[in-house]
Amino acid sequence: MSEVLVIGGGAAGMLAAWRAASLGAPVRLLERNPRLGVKILISGGGKCNITHAGPIDEVRRAFDQPEARFLAPCLHRFRNSDVLELLERHGVTTHVRPDGRIFPDSARAGDVVEALRAEMLAVGVRLSLGTPVRALSRLPHGDLRVCLDGGELQSLAVVLAVGGKSYPKTGATGDGYPWVEALGHTLIRPRAALAPAYLKHARPDWSGVALRDILLRARAGKEVARWRGDLLFTHRGVSGPTVLGVTREAALAMERGPVTLEVDLTPDRTQEELSRELAEAHATRGVRLVRVFLQRRLPERLIPTLMEEAGLDPDLPLDRLPRPGRNRLSERIKRWSLGEISHIPLELGEVTAGGIPLDEVDPRTMESRKCPGLFPCGEILDIAGPVGGYNLQAAFSTGFVAGESASRRLQGAA
Ligand SMILES: Cc1cc2nc3c(=O)[nH]c(=O)nc-3n(C[C@H](O)[C@H](O)[C@H](O)COP(=O)(O)OP(=O)(O)OC[C@H]3O[C@@H](n4cnc5c(N)ncnc54)[C@H](O)[C@@H]3O)c2cc1C
Repeated sequence: MSEVLVIGGGAAGMLAAWRAASLGAPVRLLERNPRLGVKILISGGGKCNITHAGPIDEVRRAFDQPEARFLAPCLHRFRNSDVLELLERHGVTTHVRPDGRIFPDSARAGDVVEALRAEMLAVGVRLSLGTPVRALSRLPHGDLRVCLDGGELQSLAVVLAVGGKSYPKTGATGDGYPWVEALGHTLIRPRAALAPAYLKHARPDWSGVALRDILLRARAGKEVARWRGDLLFTHRGVSGPTVLGVTREAALAMERGPVTLEVDLTPDRTQEELSRELAEAHATRGVRLVRVFLQRRLPERLIPTLMEEAGLDPDLPLDRLPRPGRNRLSERIKRWSLGEISHIPLELGEVTAGGIPLDEVDPRTMESRKCPGLFPCGEILDIAGPVGGYNLQAAFSTGFVAGESASRRLQGAA
């Protein structure tokens, strides 16, 4: 019997290798970096948001519908609770934040990687670190051939866990895409998801300014995505949870035409309520200037621009703000345009959307429908969940099932 070959030592690859070896298959994991799980090490700001709490079907429903449907068998096979149990065996205890995100108590992503490494070694996985795979192809008799610097390996079960194309310094450089195309897969063009956005008219002078609890809308004419939370101005545009939350849909819509971003600075108040508050502020709270009223709600640096856009003098007293001016200002506050997105950098996305189409992989086994014996898993698939531990969970679960199926194929042939 030959070995299950696992290409990639990230979240998906490590789970696949561990599962395949724990079922008794000889397994070799090939990782280009000299260390395992480099992307995990930088995840969650180095603290690693391992997964998300709650019933597994709720976790599943955080993904877009086709992804949620595809992921169902894998998530049920290896749940969020299974990940935590595995980590706990190595002393990695965890806690749930109020928003459901789960982190190690130590706040060290390295502990997660170390636990996975220890599990793999305990079941006999052979680790080949610092070993970049140069090519993957099919031999005439059906086995897969993996080309390395100065040699090659063959196997009838190869787990492909090379990740996507974002944060290429972590080792995920998109190597898998041309390989799977040559093996008969189609490829959905890789796009950024959970990424910052660059703006056509960026405001470097606002860099570092944060907006708290706003509603961000991405529009391509009509609304294509919305997200509530915080937003941060950067040198080249905007970032923060709301921006990360809309960039997948925005990047897709940008393939067809311009996309703009629009902020609702007071999502809990209607425009009419705001207008009324402006009218009453002078009388009831003794505020004199419009900008002083705004200072209580907005970062000071933005106020002159907002007032200028509403056609108002920045030193206008509140009691001289006529109804049309009030309406224009409250409209700005509810629908403040940040202008057109110029670029969403794929390399800065926390995940890569696009990749192998889900209908080309069997969700119960993770075996390719185009290339028997190939088991793609993790981020190379066209899956991109929201922020919250969902993407690591998808990588762990699809990796687990890929490893299990690869092991069965190898052992079935022995
Ligand atoms: C900054 C950042 C923060 C994140 N934070 C979180 C978070 O807190 N929670 C969460 O759920 N998700 C988070 N994510 C997303 C999550 O890390 C990924 O979705 C997940 O790691 C994908 O796992 P993977 O195993 O599919 O791919 P990867 O982790 O990218 O692993 C692929 C591995 O394959 C190796 N490889 C690639 N090509 C070759 C080759 N030719 N030969 C040999 N080896 C190769 C790479 O070196 C890499 O180690 C974050 C991502 C980033 C970038």
